[in-house]
Amino acid sequence: MMKPFRTLDDAHVAGKRVLLRVDLNVPTDGGRVTDVTRIERVAPTITEIADKGGKVILLAHFGRPKGGPDEANSLKPVAAAAAEIIKRPVAFATDCVGKAAEDAIATMKNGDVLLLENTRFHKGEEKNDPTLVDELAKLGDVYVNDAFSAAHRAHASTEGLAHKLPAHAGRAMQQELEALEAALGNPQRPVAAIVGGAKVSTKLDLLGNLVNKVDVLIIGGGMANTFLFAEDKGVGKSLCEKDLADTARSIAAAAEKAKCRLLLPVDATVAKEFKAHTAAHVVGVDHVPEDEMILDVGPKSVAAVEKVLREIKTLVWNGPFGAFETPPFDEATMAVAKSAAALTKAGKLTSVAGGGDTVAALNAAKVADDFTYVSTAGGAFLEWMEGKELPGVEALRAK
Ligand code: AMP
Repeated sequence: MMKPFRTLDDAHVAGKRVLLRVDLNVPTDGGRVTDVTRIERVAPTITEIADKGGKVILLAHFGRPKGGPDEANSLKPVAAAAAEIIKRPVAFATDCVGKAAEDAIATMKNGDVLLLENTRFHKGEEKNDPTLVDELAKLGDVYVNDAFSAAHRAHASTEGLAHKLPAHAGRAMQQELEALEAALGNPQRPVAAIVGGAKVSTKLDLLGNLVNKVDVLIIGGGMANTFLFAEDKGVGKSLCEKDLADTARSIAAAAEKAKCRLLLPVDATVAKEFKAHTAAHVVGVDHVPEDEMILDVGPKSVAAVEKVLREIKTLVWNGPFGAFETPPFDEATMAVAKSAAALTKAGKLTSVAGGGDTVAALNAAKVADDFTYVSTAGGAFLEWMEGKELPGVEALRAK
């Protein structure tokens, strides 16, 4: 049993300087924030600490600055966007440590909010350098981490600091950890995973972990082609990592050993060329023409997946069933997304999905809100699904 992590419920923040690590790595255009989703996610934590009388000192990275401060990667415009969302002033300091930060913090009153400049302007951030950690620790009394998406990195502001100050998970971090726990840590069974996407090679760790965690592993997308090829099926001109046929066979064997049912496509939508609205047709996986390519799974495969969805209690999903950005090869992904959403809405399924393409697909199907939880954390979500310990999360567990 893993040790529980500390949350804001156990934190003493009134009158304290609270260093709050958040994900403010928002898309911008000419210094204007174009998508505030990430700010909205951490807003409840900011306002809760402020309302409890804490001085909220925001720590965040932005972009990938190379060797020192540069205006293009300044967090300054984000302070204004955050102020609009939390509906209170957000002050800004031009450095995350040293005099600029100390002076700005010295003028704070209880309940004030201050954003410190990009932590990655210091090389020590990504190196988890103890000197930078000490300089940051000096600025606060309590540390709260609300940036799950950065928790797979052991950086100064995401991991090092947690060992220097009383450390707690913020509300967004807590929500993410609870959702992932419900999906894979301690799920209601039966539990199924959908793994799709382009290639097997990028998801080997994921598949290896999942066969030991889930009751049904559903494979879709280009990566299913490698599994079909490994079963001696012709895949025509499809995307297929033929050199990984042995790997696919060993994953299938590991699944069998773990009593995990492996569900592969039984039919496919194929076309001669990969182009929007091109002529496409459905074939059984034993009859893929040599001069065509598989670009989506077919309706019988969708029906088989939907049957599984009705039989399980928990679903985790990463990766699309087909080349969903290019219609008509979005059909299977859209259909399964809608079915999973409807079952979730009806209270029959706990559904957790994540990864950039999967989030985009659920948004395109307009069902993201109906899922139990949709993680936008990208790399951190995948590492969690791979069964890896996330240093930023481990540092928050009760010692
Ligand atoms: P990933 O980043 O590994 O999750 O892969 C997602 C990408 O896989 C998406 O851009 C899809 O268009 C692509 N994809 C899914 N199925 C296929 C397929 N059958 N053939 C080619 N690309 C695919």
